[in-house]
Amino acid sequence: MDCIFCKLQKGEIPSEIVFENDKVVVFKDINPLAKVHLLVIPREHILNVNEIEPKNAEIMGEMFLAAKKAAEISGIAQSGYRTIINSGADAGQEVGHIHLHIMGGEKLGFLN
Ligand code: AMP
Ligand code: ZN
Repeated sequence: MDCIFCKLQKGEIPSEIVFENDKVVVFKDINPLAKVHLLVIPREHILNVNEIEPKNAEIMGEMFLAAKKAAEISGIAQSGYRTIINSGADAGQEVGHIHLHIMGGEKLGFLN
């Protein structure tokens, strides 16, 4: 499968990794929309929230645990941050491998 985030998590394309373990990877967004903009991905391929199955419940928890850790590492845990998952066209999902955006490091405006 030709998935950019599957390749990224295998190290086949470069990324600036902030945190990783055997289940998830957190890396800097290549086109940051906030001073701190990170993405959390599971190593396993899941398209988006529509494709989450009961068997994926644990990995979703792992993604949020990694988000918490990455926020601490990046120094935004106390100042605050936003976590977003875009699913499908109306949300503007560009990459078809589920990812949790972490945005912070500055006061954020409200989204649509
Ligand atoms: P979304 O619109 O929710 O699908 O978000 C996709 C995000 O992935 C965008 O914010 C892109 O800037 C980011 N992105 C795409 N390719 C890369 C890459 N190779 N490394 C880091 N971030 C990427
Ligand atoms: Zn993938």
